[in-house]
Amino acid sequence: MSDQKTNDTTYWKSLSELAKNKEYEKYAEREFPEDASELTDQVSRRSFLRVMGASIALAGFASCRKPYQKILPFSKQPEDRVLGVPYFYATSMPFQDTVAGLLIENSEGRPSKVEGNEMHPSSRGKTSIYHQASILGMYDPDRSRHPRRNGEQVSYSDFAQFAASHFSDTDRNILFISEASSSPSRQRLKENVMSRFSNAQWVTHEPFNDDNRIEGTNIAFGQRLRTVNHFDEADIVVSFDDDFMSPSGHKNSVEAARQFSMARNVKSVEDSMSRLYSIENSYSITGSMADHRLRLKSSEIEAMVYALAGRLAQDLNGLSAFSGYSNDMSGHDMIETLAAELLANRSNSIITAGTGHNPAVHATISALNNALGNIGSAVTVHELPFQDNANNSAAFAEAVADARSGAFDTVVILGSNPVFTAAADLQFEDALSNIDTKIHLSDYVDETSQACDWHVNRAHFMESWGDGLAYTGQRSIIQPQIAPLFDGVSDIELLHTIVTGEAGNGYDLVRETWQDVFSGDFETQWEQTLHEGMDITGSGFPAASVSIDSGFASQIQPMLETGVSDGIEITIKPDPTLFDGRYANNGWLQELPDPMTKITWDNVALMSPSTAESLGLPRERAFNSSDVPVVRIETSDGAIEIAAWVQPGHADNSITLYAGYGRNTIGRVADGVGVDVYPLRTTDNSYYRTADVSATGQMYEIACVQDHNSIEGRDMVREATLDQYRENPNFSSYESVHGYEVPGIEEAEHEGDSKGPISLFDEQYGPDYQPQWGMAIDLNTCFGCGVCTIACQAENNIPVVGKREVSRRRIMHWIRTDRYYEGDEDNPGVYHQPVPCMHCELAPCEQVCPVAATVHSEDGMNQMTYNRCIGTRYCANNCPFKVRRFNFFHYSQEYLTTGDDPEIIQMAMNPEVTIRFRGVMEKCSYCVQRVNRAKIETRKETGSRKPADGTVKTACQQACPADAITFGDLTDRESVVSQHKMNERNYVMLEEINVRPRTSYLAKLRNPNPELT
Ligand code: SF4
Repeated sequence: MSDQKTNDTTYWKSLSELAKNKEYEKYAEREFPEDASELTDQVSRRSFLRVMGASIALAGFASCRKPYQKILPFSKQPEDRVLGVPYFYATSMPFQDTVAGLLIENSEGRPSKVEGNEMHPSSRGKTSIYHQASILGMYDPDRSRHPRRNGEQVSYSDFAQFAASHFSDTDRNILFISEASSSPSRQRLKENVMSRFSNAQWVTHEPFNDDNRIEGTNIAFGQRLRTVNHFDEADIVVSFDDDFMSPSGHKNSVEAARQFSMARNVKSVEDSMSRLYSIENSYSITGSMADHRLRLKSSEIEAMVYALAGRLAQDLNGLSAFSGYSNDMSGHDMIETLAAELLANRSNSIITAGTGHNPAVHATISALNNALGNIGSAVTVHELPFQDNANNSAAFAEAVADARSGAFDTVVILGSNPVFTAAADLQFEDALSNIDTKIHLSDYVDETSQACDWHVNRAHFMESWGDGLAYTGQRSIIQPQIAPLFDGVSDIELLHTIVTGEAGNGYDLVRETWQDVFSGDFETQWEQTLHEGMDITGSGFPAASVSIDSGFASQIQPMLETGVSDGIEITIKPDPTLFDGRYANNGWLQELPDPMTKITWDNVALMSPSTAESLGLPRERAFNSSDVPVVRIETSDGAIEIAAWVQPGHADNSITLYAGYGRNTIGRVADGVGVDVYPLRTTDNSYYRTADVSATGQMYEIACVQDHNSIEGRDMVREATLDQYRENPNFSSYESVHGYEVPGIEEAEHEGDSKGPISLFDEQYGPDYQPQWGMAIDLNTCFGCGVCTIACQAENNIPVVGKREVSRRRIMHWIRTDRYYEGDEDNPGVYHQPVPCMHCELAPCEQVCPVAATVHSEDGMNQMTYNRCIGTRYCANNCPFKVRRFNFFHYSQEYLTTGDDPEIIQMAMNPEVTIRFRGVMEKCSYCVQRVNRAKIETRKETGSRKPADGTVKTACQQACPADAITFGDLTDRESVVSQHKMNERNYVMLEEINVRPRTSYLAKLRNPNPELT
């Protein structure tokens, strides 16, 4: 990618825009799409109702104005509760064998919002999209509501009765299959089970796991260890296909993103920033932050790792296993570059690889980090508790083979969904049919539940007691925020029932485990742990000291023979928003645009423009059409047909597929969405393999938002290299970018107005009023994860609209993240730009509203008065940033009164925010409810109306793992936001139209290797 930016640099969102397609220009000029009238056809209406039923439900369109409900106050106010004041409780969210520390906002006794726990090492107050969306997961009316036996509804006491009798025979051959877990209580219960049933076997199944990474340390150091990368300690990071900033790519992504952003946080020309090299097949959000990105197909990436080891063996001790090694990639220019960078940054660099790559890749990387002296500084390795040989995919595969041969009479599956996710060659469902008694604990009546005799509905983590260990080992507690909505049970309660035949009590089970944890007064420490969400007397896993295993060379050398395939390779990855499919019924996640493709509600076959052309497909999508061609992908194990999507920057002869779609049983949101790609995944080819690919001639509709709200052809993104910044700190000023001053500034200076160009309009805010709110967004640290969008959606009761409505450009998100490409389509640079309402001083929306429904507050916010809005949409037409959202269909009305379970859906709403109705305009309010809460608190405590800096955090700001968003009082010169506004990199979009936005941006920086520029 280019690093010398000029005033002519063009940024583009799609290949059609790059090609300056005529249709595109016509489309981009229109604010509102055609069909902006009614949901008249039955297909649209049906699919919309289906989505809304489960995510933010809706059952009809009878009414078209304000919802009318009665509310009741407490008849007796509880002593410790003030109506309308939320309370926060600590808990942790389990994800595979880790937990993340969270704080849950409780409104009138129900969880309503998720935040990160600032004390917890896994979150430090930040969150991922999975954390934010978990609240909707809990209120999902499609969750299973009761146990079933052979499909018939039964009660948990029926199950307990059955368990008491069935498991009284302790000689049973039982197979336990569980999700990965770090819970000490689960481990204790597991030990109880295993000692009671001497013929039992316990295996773990996770389709996307850390097995290869852990096995890599076993090959290199002779120990199965967890690798922790400390990105704030590294000056050079080399990522081989490791999407470490995405929650689908890494279990510690929130902390990794926070640390990486710290290492790139530049406040002045004196500051330095780390340098990231990314080698990957498809564009990831981590790759989009790279200073140098190389696109290779997956087999080439592996060869590249070994070639780098062969090169570094010439200069480093401890790499004799690679002495004299070379392969087809050894002559690649990047090898010398990487070698020079790594040798110059010994002990402060990181080499990392994606979990999908084979153990030999991870072993090589462990050896390289060790030889470079990185282990012990920027990289640490740690022994994991609860590790045994049954924790990996190989043990699972053996157990399935045993099941097929009739080795088990009972199987108990805890949470995992292997019928859907197990490798195709294992034919799991077939093996399952050879077991007499099959019990499945799960959130939904999913594919595995349907193949089992017993289904037990699982409690959500916000409904149950539990515990776990953070990625770095901090012992943490999971405390319920609400009684189980559907009387579900947790895995530890189910295990207790299997051992005792009685219903378990999660609270007692967890307390029993923690009796052994505390050394002092139990009750005091227990209370403290509940309060903080973690055991503050404990620490993380101690770092292990390692050296290269004596058998390393003999083990690794036979593994280095890698073949780079000639044909097209498919690479199967977890979906960035749905992961392995476990979040498929979550409407917020389905509708969150993919950070790179901006596709919602579907998975596609991602390929480069050249690969598309070689398959006879168009390089760019036909404009004003959502239809894209379908391809058939065939391997010796199966075939699928899936929409093809041309992704700039994708490796040639490589196709990326995301798993987790193609569901038919779990709920109204997930069912019928996308294509199941698991049939192409086998035990030997779990990550990539060659495949035959051909066009089918069919077309398929995709809802993609990449060309929505297009403000094309204008300088939205400003950027420079670190060196260019040092040479010209004002590189992002209007004058530097355009070569002339902002039009009208001279006249303004002549008039003595220093605020900006002369204007026909008066500024609307009260100039003497304090505080004056403003926001700054740092494009240098934003990596486009979309957490801000989901956090805003959760905070502000923003509805899900469904695929059809997204296609019609009616998505309701108050903050979108625009993704721009720059450069040529084969290897472009990528820039992310979150765009909320700019709260302009001279707001064009305010000038045109005929009923003054959008006005300025005295503290400088552009506000919407919903009651007054008559829906002319003049304001949206006049908004240069296209941040206003029109409520076409009363998206949120019916969930309050009708649907399957209106009370459940109502509970998900933030009571501090109005539910909007059909016919009104809505948009970012700077979380005015949070601002007002802080003002009231400050007034009560100090008598002042100015909350201290940092007291008010907007939902997007609080959630952002990169700390890219800053909000505060612009009249306080010391506030962080004021400091950002004074930074040379600060700029506003479309300065020339003189609307004076309150939201500004800090320009993007890259830190390319001077040798390569
Ligand atoms: S600003 Fe939004 S998209 Fe950017 S890093 Fe923060 S949360 Fe992610």
